[in-house]
Amino acid sequence: MTPHTRACILSTGDELITGQLQDTNMRWLASELTIMGISVVQCATVPDDLETLTATMLRLTTCAPLLIVSGGLGPTEGDLTRHALAEAMSDQLVTDDAAQRWLDEFLRSRGRNWNALQARQTLRPSRARMLPNAVGTAPGLHGVVGEGVLGCDVFCLPGPPNELSAMWRASVLPALRPPADQTVRTRLLHVIGIGEADLASKLGPMMARTRLPLIGVTASQGVLTLRLRYAGPGSRLDADAAIDADVAALSAQLGDNILGDGSLSTSELMIAALGRAGKTLAVAESCTGGLLGAMLTQVPGSSTSFSGGLIVYSNGLKTALAGVPSELIAEHGAVSSQVAAALASGARERTAASYALAITGIAGPDGGSVAKPVGTVYIGLAGGATEPEVRHFRFSGTREDVRARAAGSALGMLHFELRQTNPRPKLLWQQGDAQTAAC
Ligand code: ATP
Ligand code: MG
Repeated sequence: MTPHTRACILSTGDELITGQLQDTNMRWLASELTIMGISVVQCATVPDDLETLTATMLRLTTCAPLLIVSGGLGPTEGDLTRHALAEAMSDQLVTDDAAQRWLDEFLRSRGRNWNALQARQTLRPSRARMLPNAVGTAPGLHGVVGEGVLGCDVFCLPGPPNELSAMWRASVLPALRPPADQTVRTRLLHVIGIGEADLASKLGPMMARTRLPLIGVTASQGVLTLRLRYAGPGSRLDADAAIDADVAALSAQLGDNILGDGSLSTSELMIAALGRAGKTLAVAESCTGGLLGAMLTQVPGSSTSFSGGLIVYSNGLKTALAGVPSELIAEHGAVSSQVAAALASGARERTAASYALAITGIAGPDGGSVAKPVGTVYIGLAGGATEPEVRHFRFSGTREDVRARAAGSALGMLHFELRQTNPRPKLLWQQGDAQTAAC
């Protein structure tokens, strides 16, 4: 039997093609297949239309020996996957007696009446088999389109994500034939303080698309994530050794720009780093209104390193809670490097934490000016040098983006402080160099 070296994914539903619903099933299936060493070669999304569904199903069965279909197995007129599979298999739909009995029993046990439409869920192409649904009423289907080495295993799974994943584990995984001679191992590394293009030129041939392990990069909110993927011959130990060697080479090249294990969040990494250094952190937040504190307290056990913080949205509270002189605010404005520095120093003094991070800025969409446009944020860090370090940022994006990027950048500043990196690398969106600002 042909091994499942490659696969296609087909998502069905008007709600997906109209943008009403995000296709999380495709992402989940693609990652499951990839982890197993099965390369996903095409993904398609089609509306609830029999002709399009059948044509796309047939086309995808010629692209790979495995096709996973999501959705369209329910009882309504718009649920057409079983009809499309029958057409693709040049087969007829028949009633599956076991499914009929199961559905009767299922409805009776819940005191629900038989609905004529539900009969659709007991239909299957005569040469296909049904896959039990432990979580809902729509059974899945497995059929083969084409013959011999050209045959493609088609697995049709229900759309609701919890039903899809349960059926995947119970019925699809045991039937898969992943490539036997392939070991697949993946490791992620977060990197900051370097742009994507600079990273690519620094790493040069390490990023060649033909290389094993293959190194890919994705960027999100100012953090680059390197994905080292070994998919090739050899044992798991060989694969891990090849990845270890690459991680060592990357560490030598990128030094402190490496934030840490990419399977962890920036807050998890920073809480761990503070713990290792035996230091504590407090925050004073204006435009992020507690977001940074929330990110840090999401980490279980963060109380050993995170002391707490002040939400100082108004000028009055900046003075009352963090001790920022009102004259300083009047002279420079609440969004200024001077106030960021004073907020950081004040928060550190009043909380007795080893470090304090302070954020003050204009998240928008209103409130910007020519001198200080929306996205202008000053972040202060007290506790390192004698004077607090302040960085000026100009974040792009929505209010939500500006706030998230400000909180993430504050953690980036802490990372380079804990590593004592000198000179401090510039972070994404940073304007000018880091300053040590006298308040
Ligand atoms: P049902 O019996 O629930 O109708 P079904 O197999 O017919 O199952 P669909 O009608 O296609 O599935 O989808 C049912 C629901 O499942 C959708 O309304 C949506 O909430 C969710 N869903 C479907 N497809 C996806 C997808 N690709 N990603 C995320 N959620 C999905
Ligand atoms: Mg449905």
